[in-house]
Amino acid sequence: MRIRDIGGEFKLIERVTRAVKNKNVIVGIGDDAAVFEFGNNNMVVTMDTLCEEDHFSRRYFTPKQIGIKAMESNLSDIAAMGGRPLYALLSFALPQDVDVETMDGIYDGLYERSNRYGVDIIGGDTTHSSAMVISVTLIGQVDKEKITTRSGARPGDIIRVTGPLGASTAGLKLFVDNRPGFAAVKLKHTEPSCRLDVSEAIAGTATAMEDVSDGLASEVRNICQSSGTGAMIYRDKIPVEPETIEAAKSLGEDGVNYALFGGEDFELVYTVPPVSADRCPGVTVGEIFSGSGVYLEDKGERTRLSRFGWDHFNA
Ligand code: ADP
Ligand code: MG
Repeated sequence: MRIRDIGGEFKLIERVTRAVKNKNVIVGIGDDAAVFEFGNNNMVVTMDTLCEEDHFSRRYFTPKQIGIKAMESNLSDIAAMGGRPLYALLSFALPQDVDVETMDGIYDGLYERSNRYGVDIIGGDTTHSSAMVISVTLIGQVDKEKITTRSGARPGDIIRVTGPLGASTAGLKLFVDNRPGFAAVKLKHTEPSCRLDVSEAIAGTATAMEDVSDGLASEVRNICQSSGTGAMIYRDKIPVEPETIEAAKSLGEDGVNYALFGGEDFELVYTVPPVSADRCPGVTVGEIFSGSGVYLEDKGERTRLSRFGWDHFNA
């Protein structure tokens, strides 16, 4: 049986998940990162893997950009929990043709972004493989009252995002199609930035939070499934930069669809009661209701979404 025959990546994770034995685990499988109590602290741990020709390509990423993306995608998961990153471990599987200068460049990117947040690289693993695979484990700390999971959304909450979406997917498509121009859009794909600058301000007020790694529709569905709620997304409220819309148009596509179904924007999506919304940076894109399903409202018409974001075994 293939992984896609059971419903893809998320169903596989469900299938292999077993109950935890240790009562110190506060958040286990099923969120952006795990949280466990350690003495008087709450530790937060995540890992994300980048595969060559899937998450990056040496044809259009500089080595430094590969390092940037590897670090930022992990920092983003710590941000999504309301945590502060502290330590990183890096695992590399490298093909024979990778030279020392390439590795120096990748480490320039890794150190640039880890230094930005005071993260120390404290270990890792190096081995060989037919394609380049980079896996980062990030360990951080989170204040108990700031732990923000996917499961706290409540009917009546509004859904907000911290910034424009869709540019990373537009950038990827421009690269794959060999299109010139749109340098700023392409940079959103090759040099993403997590939102640790605003995450701690949102955590503690937001009822649920997640980073946008698989597209807005998929992230909202995750929040709804974990919280036992439904959601309405207002298509015309989704923030998409004009350059992203232009880039999508040049490819014969719709930039708002990139925001909904693309990925790797690394903005945060969160839910919050309307009265507390002005304490949190972002724009409102929808609301949570009692029930189930994720609906999209477009020009007064509501449709229940059946297609969601990126799934590695369901593409
Ligand atoms: P994100 O997109 O935020 O990185 P993922 O979709 O990769 O999150 O993972 C969702 C959840 O599933 C996380 O809690 C992650 O730790 C867990 N997970 C992913 N793959 C596995 C696996 N092979 N075994 C156990 N847990 C996994
Ligand atoms: Mg995440």
